[in-house]
Amino acid sequence: MRPQKWRLDLLEPLITEEQLQRRVAELGAEISRDYEGRDLLLVAVLKGSVVFLADLMRHITTPHSIDFMATSSYGAATESSGIVRILKDLDMPITGRNVLIVEDIVDTGHTLAYLRRLLLEREPASLRVVTLLDKRERREVDVPLDYVGFVVPNAFVVGYGLDYAELYRNLPYIAVPKEGFFDEE
Ligand code: 5GP
Repeated sequence: MRPQKWRLDLLEPLITEEQLQRRVAELGAEISRDYEGRDLLLVAVLKGSVVFLADLMRHITTPHSIDFMATSSYGAATESSGIVRILKDLDMPITGRNVLIVEDIVDTGHTLAYLRRLLLEREPASLRVVTLLDKRERREVDVPLDYVGFVVPNAFVVGYGLDYAELYRNLPYIAVPKEGFFDEE
């Protein structure tokens, strides 16, 4: 398979590396204060959240562990039903634990709403959510967000874990595609 064209010139930076790093450090400090003296398990959803998780956890100064889930939507059906397929479940039980879901972006809210319902059935001691980006204009289901990095406009974004066709996750900033980005070669 031919590699996709790398169209960095057609990306407009939206949130710089400096802004991301400053905000992630603030979120880590806030979470550290809130969970002082309490057990904490960070649950990240693959793959978009890994970059955020890796930076965030290094700013959390209280003891904590991490675990991962992988989900896949049923395409268009997800928009209406909110049904999400679990591709990889957590390694560890969460009953009685303080769970913090780490999300890259909350868009319609369907994925997170489903994940919350699923995890709440397992009776954690508490369940909160930290999301780096909140595209709240697009919300279709109301999901409580406890920590929000940035509110972003209704636009498709890439970078810092977020992909387009599995590329651009490694960008240290968040960017919006410019005109022509999605055009075929
Ligand atoms: P929701 O269920 O809230 O509509 O969708 C959440 C998921 O959709 C995110 O975890 C992410 O994988 C994907 N998503 C939503 N908006 C964007 C975006 O602007 N860029 C990218 N790369 N993924 C997005």
